[in-house]
Amino acid sequence: MSRFLNKKYRGLAAYEPGEQPQDKAYIKLNTNESPFPPSDGVLDALSRDAAARLNLYPDPECGELRSALAAQYGVRPENVFVSNGSDDILSFSFMAFCGGDTEVVFPDITYGFYKVYAEFYGAAYREIPLTEELAVRASDYYGLQKNIVLANPNAPTGLTISLKEVEEICRTNPDHIVLIDEAYVDFGGESSVRLTGRYENLITVMTYSKSRSLAGARLGFAIADEALIADLNRMKYSTNPYSINRLTLRAGTAAIRDQAYYDANCAKIAEIRERAKQELKRQGFFCTDSKSNFLFVKHPAASGETLYRELKENGILVRHFTKDRIKEFIRITVGTEAQMEALFAALRKILSEKTGGTR
Ligand SMILES: *Cc1c(COP(=O)(O)O)cnc(C)c1O
Repeated sequence: MSRFLNKKYRGLAAYEPGEQPQDKAYIKLNTNESPFPPSDGVLDALSRDAAARLNLYPDPECGELRSALAAQYGVRPENVFVSNGSDDILSFSFMAFCGGDTEVVFPDITYGFYKVYAEFYGAAYREIPLTEELAVRASDYYGLQKNIVLANPNAPTGLTISLKEVEEICRTNPDHIVLIDEAYVDFGGESSVRLTGRYENLITVMTYSKSRSLAGARLGFAIADEALIADLNRMKYSTNPYSINRLTLRAGTAAIRDQAYYDANCAKIAEIRERAKQELKRQGFFCTDSKSNFLFVKHPAASGETLYRELKENGILVRHFTKDRIKEFIRITVGTEAQMEALFAALRKILSEKTGGTR
């Protein structure tokens, strides 16, 4: 830290992203990326001709992409906001709606960035504990009269609340924002997008990073009432109006045309996930009923820290969180079948050492 840093940022606890080793030495199951490449249409859109126009600024309104997303989700372009990854949109949302004395509420165990943004923007916040089973109890959020941020499916548990429950949260907090972060919805959740138009306080946030194989392109979008979208644009135009580059805009539009490819990948990942749950349970793991592209598991014979460390020694990266309630767990991204077989074999080996080689 330099002596020049603004005093208000000196105590800041920044978000810690998962490891991103820059070599190919690991089977990477730690940051919930897709194991599949972008579609052919996306690869073609990133042509030499497209790159040759990088001397020009991109369209700040992202008109073509927003129209395509609006058509896909059955809303109008005025209901769509796009920016540089959904983290960017979460940041704008906290900036726009949560500063000052409006309290924001989210679960004690959820995506770590919510707390970072609340602190960064000086918003008062309250964390509501998950149940013993690590689920969000939707009724805890009914009629709170506070801004509410929920990941659905939640991270890192993969557990969902129903669309009816999301609707009840929106209905009973009419004077506050309800932000539903649907980073993982395409793997088995129910999207709240269809409530847009009925609830002017609802913002649904989605990303291209997980189900659309574009984590490296940085693209996220939000769907909400037109007035909320205008507020988000006010934040974007006050900080970085060209937040999406030309190549990413092209990739994003092309991905929508290739939706069938991504739907098939999501179905494949959900299938591999369900088989992995069975195998891990056979190995003695407890698994949450994740509807996402990751598994959240613990084992009575090895701590989360041990599993993380020994998997890494075996060339497999998973995510371990140190927070008390979940420190016995590891989060495993669902990879290809071959990657999962390597994981199962490594776990078998690690666990047989712990349990005296009887397995
Ligand atoms: C991965 C993730 C994001 C961030 O996605 P980007 O679009 O890559 O910024 C947001 N929310 C949750 C819950 C996530 O898991």
